[in-house]
Amino acid sequence: MQDCIFCKIVKKEIPAEIVYENDHVLVFKDVKPASPIHLLLIPKKHIPTFFDLQPEDSQIIGEVQRAAATVARDMGLAEKGFRLVSNCMEDAGQLVFHMHYHMLAGRPLQWPPG
Ligand code: AMP
Repeated sequence: MQDCIFCKIVKKEIPAEIVYENDHVLVFKDVKPASPIHLLLIPKKHIPTFFDLQPEDSQIIGEVQRAAATVARDMGLAEKGFRLVSNCMEDAGQLVFHMHYHMLAGRPLQWPPG
């Protein structure tokens, strides 16, 4: 999508610190980290929110979640773990309307979140 900042990162039109990439998934560092490790995991396909998911997207979303485990292992998080969260629309504070998961790790995380 033309005006989507994450689509521009996918197309390498704007820079990002990419830590993992495959045909369907891109993982890069959040520019404003909320924890020592704060990554964004996105499908390369432009899907604005959960409400836009189509049946054929199930595999892509599965791949995003599997990428979480791959990246977490690579980053040495297999022992302590991580949190994966996705903000969907206004009440959750979604700012970028290209579906994404935040991977937060590297410190004990509070529950419930704010
Ligand atoms: P959300 O509120 O769930 O939509 O979160 C969007 C996230 O994208 C925020 O944590 C931002 O810090 C992050 N973000 C926005 N633009 C960029 C960018 N160009 N590179 C990396 N992270 C970004």
